[in-house]
Amino acid sequence: MSVYRKWYCTCKGKPVELEYQEISEDERGEPACRYCGASQSSDPKHSVIYREIEDWED
Ligand SMILES: [Zn+2]
Repeated sequence: MSVYRKWYCTCKGKPVELEYQEISEDERGEPACRYCGASQSSDPKHSVIYREIEDWED
């Protein structure tokens, strides 16, 4: 079993999962909110949260 984090932004009042933004074909940025652009490292409104997901498949 392993645990990983899912990231969400709460700017809309309920958690919205952050989405990866395509930068180029072989480069992926960090996930960001589709509404306000907040991400794990850029969170001016402190609206980014995470939940720990337990993966029992391992
Ligand atoms: Zn947001």
